[in-house]
Amino acid sequence: MTVISKLEFEAAMAGRTCADVMHPWHPHCAPAARMIFASTAIGFNKFMLGLYLLDVLLKLTREKELTKEEIIFIVKSYLRTGVAALWIATTFLASNCIFRRWMPFNYYTTVSVPAFIGGLGISFESKQRIEFILYTWLNMLVETTFNHLEYLQIWRVNAVSGTALFMLANGLVMYEIRRLKLQGRTPTFYWFFSPPSVRNQQDIQNNNSSSTTNNNYNYNNNKGDSVKSPLGPFCPHEGPCIEEIRKSAIKFLGLGYVFGFLKTSVPRLGLIVKKPRLIISYLLNKKTISYGLFAGLYVALYKGLSCFLCQNQKADSAILALPCGTVAGLAFCVLPAPSILAAILANLIFMYGKNSSFARSKLPMSQLSFALVNAILFHNYAFYNNLSPAFFTNMLNVATNDRCHQIYQNLVNLVAQLPKHTHPVLPTI
Ligand SMILES: [Zn+2]
Ligand SMILES: [Zn+2]
Repeated sequence: MTVISKLEFEAAMAGRTCADVMHPWHPHCAPAARMIFASTAIGFNKFMLGLYLLDVLLKLTREKELTKEEIIFIVKSYLRTGVAALWIATTFLASNCIFRRWMPFNYYTTVSVPAFIGGLGISFESKQRIEFILYTWLNMLVETTFNHLEYLQIWRVNAVSGTALFMLANGLVMYEIRRLKLQGRTPTFYWFFSPPSVRNQQDIQNNNSSSTTNNNYNYNNNKGDSVKSPLGPFCPHEGPCIEEIRKSAIKFLGLGYVFGFLKTSVPRLGLIVKKPRLIISYLLNKKTISYGLFAGLYVALYKGLSCFLCQNQKADSAILALPCGTVAGLAFCVLPAPSILAAILANLIFMYGKNSSFARSKLPMSQLSFALVNAILFHNYAFYNNLSPAFFTNMLNVATNDRCHQIYQNLVNLVAQLPKHTHPVLPTI
């Protein structure tokens, strides 16, 4: 089963009750809701406990010991996430049962409306976590869009068009970060590289005062966007340009390589324990090396062009991040992975959304946006299961202790019982 069409769904739902479709594990609504609550309490701990313990271990490597406040914060954060997960799973089922009393099953609303209501449970989380979770969901929404475009044979991420799109998105993200920093705001983004801030005039003045006796400076502040001095330093860094580019490129080459190694080896830890020699093959793996090359080249291109433009124009400005970010995006050729393109596009949507007039509305826009994306991802999980991002599918199945998979499998079985002529001819994945 790849896709469940509207026709198939509506035919399979004829005369069905909520118990037939949504809670096949118990014929009555209230006990079924209690059971999904209990399963989610177990599944959530299975899914999150390891992640939180890893987070605590990483903190301990940096801080030696945790303060009482930090421990309380971690426990509170864990409980808040738990309450949000329980809310999402339980209200999904309960609202489905309630709606069935008034309206029949509908292809567009049966899954998405309860998932939207469930998604509002994100409000239990802290503001910072809501933003991070919203970014993660946007990332999966972009991945889902890629999957659909590929399924419909319209477009797939490739080295040429993927690089062009990545360059454009990267230029815009880098500019947005620098623009916000120049305005004294703290940009929220989830990316490995942050472009250096434009130096403020005071910094340049102090620097020049200490290096020269010539006081005839010519600062030119163009609407707070451009900082110009005929004496320099023009670049947003200390020391010689070549040294700065070389050091940054090597640092990010190393970080990218370590990240690539962890990404390829951690999911296969079990295999490595059995065959330790596999570590060498993961260290020399083409993909592992590509991550290092991508990050090193990306930073070298960004910083190289930034220094060239600053020295050439004898000025720095936030807008320079646009050409620098665009050229740095050429590094995507080395690693044309859909996940990397999805990450930068999700940052672009997230940052523009957060700083738009839409976000300044009195309504809780982050929560509503999350609930909307959650509704789309749930709908996609139910009707285009093979096009659902692997992380989303695994999370739903593990965090509900397999209840979600049970509901999906039940839906598949109901559709499979239909007479053959009901099934439309659909493209295969
Ligand atoms: Zn029910
Ligand atoms: Zn420089």
